Amino acid sequence: MRYLIVSDIHGNWEALEAVLAGAKGAYDRVVCLGDVVGYGPDPNRIVEWVRENSVATIRGNHDRASVGLEDLEWFNPVARAAALWTQNELTAENRDWVRNLPKGPVQIDSFQIVHGSPLDEDGYVVNATEASFVFPYVSCELTFFGHSHLQGGFMWTRQRVRSLQKPKVIFGFELLELEKDAQYLVNPGSVGQPRDLDPRAAFVIYDGGLRCVKYHREPYDIAKTQAKIRSVGLPDLLADRLALGR
Ligand code: ZN
Repeated sequence: MRYLIVSDIHGNWEALEAVLAGAKGAYDRVVCLGDVVGYGPDPNRIVEWVRENSVATIRGNHDRASVGLEDLEWFNPVARAAALWTQNELTAENRDWVRNLPKGPVQIDSFQIVHGSPLDEDGYVVNATEASFVFPYVSCELTFFGHSHLQGGFMWTRQRVRSLQKPKVIFGFELLELEKDAQYLVNPGSVGQPRDLDPRAAFVIYDGGLRCVKYHREPYDIAKTQAKIRSVGLPDLLADRLALGR
């Protein structure tokens, strides 16, 4: 089975469209690691696509915030403004769907999905030190996680952690072949708001049969999303950062 793994779409339709065009024919199923909404101008369209196409979706902190399940006091002013805007924008049906999203980890075949860390859905796993605290508690050999919006991940072998080199993905994709006797935490990166200084939409394809992960990036019409963000009255910063990839 080949999976298209998407995370942190954040209501960005143009980015998702580019991902789907780039991944066309290369996957059998879609899995989503949360933060479907928040920040972006197309929350309903994205929710409806995910509802229809993803075989497993877990919630992210922005999903909770956008349906009133989160105390917005902990959000910075821009994230809070976006959450309030999204709360207002979501249809009743889409709001119910988001509200009922399960919390990770969720097991699918031989891998699991989480939003932040396998130990805490809101925890960040950004560097090797953080990953080294997490791996001893993970029994699954392959975990896909998001939340940091940084494509890449970590490998654990013989009780040591190694950062997977940041994929450059200049043409096509960058391949990660999974070794036996190793565990992996793989971050597909963010579809709708990358923060690794590469503004292209990020995703991975996981091929369970071939035991490999393909890291992809797709350019998309950033100017179109930026114009939508400004026209609906979301904070300017949310438009600006898309062009910078941070
Ligand atoms: Zn996110």
